[in-house]
Amino acid sequence: MRIMVTGGAGFIGSAVIRRAIANGEDVLNVDKLTYAANLDNVADVAGHARYQFAQKDICDLPAMTSLMAEFNPDAVMNLAAETHVDRSIDGPGAFIQTNIVGVYSLLEAAKTYMENGAPVGFRFHHISTDEVYGSLGPTGEFTETSPYQPNSPYSAAKASSDMLARAWRETFNLPVIVTNCSNNYGPYQFPEKLIPVVVIAGLEGREIPIYGKGDNIRDWLFVEDHADALLLAARQGKPGETYNIGGRAERTNLELVKMICAILDEELPSSPHRPHENLITFVADRPGHDQRYAINCDKIEQELGWSPSCSIEEGMRNTVRWYLDNRDWWDAIRNQGFDVSARQGLGKK
Ligand code: NAD
Repeated sequence: MRIMVTGGAGFIGSAVIRRAIANGEDVLNVDKLTYAANLDNVADVAGHARYQFAQKDICDLPAMTSLMAEFNPDAVMNLAAETHVDRSIDGPGAFIQTNIVGVYSLLEAAKTYMENGAPVGFRFHHISTDEVYGSLGPTGEFTETSPYQPNSPYSAAKASSDMLARAWRETFNLPVIVTNCSNNYGPYQFPEKLIPVVVIAGLEGREIPIYGKGDNIRDWLFVEDHADALLLAARQGKPGETYNIGGRAERTNLELVKMICAILDEELPSSPHRPHENLITFVADRPGHDQRYAINCDKIEQELGWSPSCSIEEGMRNTVRWYLDNRDWWDAIRNQGFDVSARQGLGKK
């Protein structure tokens, strides 16, 4: 397949690209290179003959139209987005622009591409989040037919883009597939997100911040498993369908952070910061913080034959080891002036 991946210098997009190149696909990575991007994430494939990169904004409709015409993709996979919920609270503008206007421009470019004779079987795959469904109580799971009830500017913008994708399918017959996934963890995640924040703070003996009481529940999926699911959906998913993707690994934030602390204790037996759990600090809760997400992924398991390959314990241990072994990767981000301790509510106590 020839796949145009947007946002391929980010966390999940780069995992998709590394896996796609390994699978023998041709890839065009289209990324604006925002603060969250890092071309080091695709350094392993950058010299490959089947890999190309274009630094472009998905809001640039003429550019998206030309790239599709020139690259001639069998699938467009849209992973370009503003993704950090805290930032969407501080400044929603960029989220509205990229996550809504950007998706509109990709859909329009894909419509033109179809009108001009896209390959048979062409698919437009829009990658989204379970956060569009809002918050659950102690029981129940999100299914593909759950109502949309987004609560943050981030999830509202993602929900809007899912609706646009649906409308371009229904109105213009664009072969759209939407996937909604739970929280990802793994290598190359920008160090403002919970998992790298915890690992790096623990390693350095700084406070490990947890919002509120740490009782918010998320479902966690290893990023490589998400990448496999996405490539499967792009290849075999049925146009017009939505697939939920999850890890069947619900944990409270406190349970998750304690799991990481225990891994750090084992991986760093001579650390002066053991037990790392003592570094946990509860900070003021995020406004509009959803209580619980849980995803039912029966449909993708039954219809496409996907399921997570590793347990959260195994995936998290590999992830912690990766951050310990790849200090150069996150130090380079810090050396560009990004304060890896500044997010996750620290300073908002
Ligand atoms: P990320 O923040 O790590 O990467 C996003 C990438 O998009 C960056 O490389 C950035 O430069 C690029 N980008 C941003 N605006 C752009 C624009 N206007 N034009 C072109 N490129 C632009 O994000 P991620 O965590 O890899 O998430 C990827 C997608 O998966 C997003 O759509 C997100 O909503 C979705 N998702 C993420 C998670 C998660 O846990 N991280 C879970 C479910 C769904």
